[in-house]
Amino acid sequence: MKAIRIDRQGGPDVLRLVEVDRPIPQAGEVLVRHTAIGLNYIDVYLRMGTYKQQTPFIPGREAAGVVEALGAGVTDFAPGDHVAYCETPHLGAYAEYNAVPSGELVKLPDGIDDRTGCAAMLQGVTAHYLSHSTYPIAAGDTVLVHAAAGGVGLLLTQLAKARGATVIATVGSAAKAELATGAGADHVINYTTTDFAPEVKRLTANVGVAAAYDSVGIDTWERSMSVLRPRGSLVLFGAASGPVPPIDPQRLSAAGSLFLTRPTLTHYKLTPAELRQRAHDLFTMILAQKLAVRIGHTYALADATQAHIDLEARKTTGKVLLIP
Ligand code: NDP
Repeated sequence: MKAIRIDRQGGPDVLRLVEVDRPIPQAGEVLVRHTAIGLNYIDVYLRMGTYKQQTPFIPGREAAGVVEALGAGVTDFAPGDHVAYCETPHLGAYAEYNAVPSGELVKLPDGIDDRTGCAAMLQGVTAHYLSHSTYPIAAGDTVLVHAAAGGVGLLLTQLAKARGATVIATVGSAAKAELATGAGADHVINYTTTDFAPEVKRLTANVGVAAAYDSVGIDTWERSMSVLRPRGSLVLFGAASGPVPPIDPQRLSAAGSLFLTRPTLTHYKLTPAELRQRAHDLFTMILAQKLAVRIGHTYALADATQAHIDLEARKTTGKVLLIP
């Protein structure tokens, strides 16, 4: 089968198209023939070495497709089922096939096509846990969402609105501002031209926001912390501009008895039931047209290098898919 392999961590050109053996599903695994593969920012961290990974490896943790074969002991899936997943212990999604533990799979319901199902998984489940569990948004809250036109950002903005929040969104361009507004953001700030901190203070009459969802990291985190209301939550869930340095807990006290958390998807889908419940909630909203999934870009699997270049250059919006 065709796959993208990384032989050494580095720039986008380390993503090489190769021919490898199709995996054989082991006990408890399902062989999935991919029809859509999700690109996620974590793929960039793993490619460039921000997160260490033993090489060689086939990157990617998210895909959708059709069940081709079952390993021993798998009873909850059948060949022909349409499924999606957003995390595998051994990665391997940038390929025509992957063998995935059955507990990581969700069945796609009628009405959810493979590309939509794929696009709703990693970024959708993340937006779900951030808004429902990490800081469970209450009606009437004002929250700050950075990179609001991105994959997670567009979904998080919509879920925050659905929970009754006022959303202040930041984006990197005028075109992205339109997308964030379309997703329901009440106020949109282009943070490449306007310092968002004084603007957030002005918009909240100096009260501050209940939660700041910050996936940008080094460029924004201190100002995100500065616009929280007393007992507000700084939800640092990514580092697209670079990782945040260690901080003295005393700063949280001085800034308003704040909560700081650095959540990760793995701990918000601890069981297959938790993963499937979050996916079910998302699919139900999509089918009811209460949540729009924007597939902003599709690339051939062979063009994974270009897809990474564009994601890192902040040229993409919504979900980016690779098509095998
Ligand atoms: P996005 O589609 O949001 O792409 C990243 C966006 O970040 C860019 O489009 C850009 O938007 C913004 N950005 C700001 N500064 C930079 C910079 N210096 N370089 C590149 N991009 C920058 O990606 P995803 O939706 O895949 O992921 C969003 C974030 O959420 C990532 O940080 C990712 O690691 C994190 N994440 C965390 C998870 C978790 O469980 N902890 C799970 C999933 C994602 P703009 O131009 O508008 O600023």
